[in-house]
Amino acid sequence: MLLCTALGTLVSVLFELLRDLLAPRECPGCGGVVERSAVFCAACAATVEPAPNPDGSSCLAAHLFGGAVRDAIHRLKYGKRSDLARPLGHLLRACLARSPSPPRVDFVLPVPLHLARLVDRGFNQSGLLARSVAQHVRVPLRTGVLRRTAAGPAQAGLDRAARLTNVASAFSVTRASAVRGKHVLVVDDVVTTGATLDACRKALLAAGAASVTCVALARAGVERDAPPDQKKPD
Ligand SMILES: [Zn+2]
Repeated sequence: MLLCTALGTLVSVLFELLRDLLAPRECPGCGGVVERSAVFCAACAATVEPAPNPDGSSCLAAHLFGGAVRDAIHRLKYGKRSDLARPLGHLLRACLARSPSPPRVDFVLPVPLHLARLVDRGFNQSGLLARSVAQHVRVPLRTGVLRRTAAGPAQAGLDRAARLTNVASAFSVTRASAVRGKHVLVVDDVVTTGATLDACRKALLAAGAASVTCVALARAGVERDAPPDQKKPD
């Protein structure tokens, strides 16, 4: 059984390597063809801005939410383009690498969706990103150890105080033994107030995690051309 799982993983890694080598690469922002060494095409790259991550930030973010980053997240999430998670995972890995003190990571997990919302949407976009990051940094992905216990109202449209209350106790650790003493990386697509990621961090630290680093693809609320509440429905 273990051998079958390992072989399955190996085949899927080889398949992805082959696909990367042979298939023309697609710009996650616009769908155009992109240079092999780049994530975005030149036109989209001109619209992408790195997010500020001042010392003491509770969550690292790769880019500001706007331009091609917003388009790419919308295509991943609403266009159900799960294949875009792989190039977008590069952005998360680069964000971790350029951090002044790159975090130690034993395993990666996504911000979980409540089961009802997962069934409704069919997939968790943060789970796709977390899987990609785990592959890029070569550590395990552990999706089952953190659970969203309360669906709560969607975060979109709530003010900061309501967002904090909405998610304050929404997460629980299912297996403390898997978390105890471990350095955990939590991945989300968009961070707005940080309330969701802070709630995940608290649950993991309470279960004995040695450290919890949070990273998101984009930081909303400081973007240039759209209000944050239009884009973060959970
Ligand atoms: Zn493009």
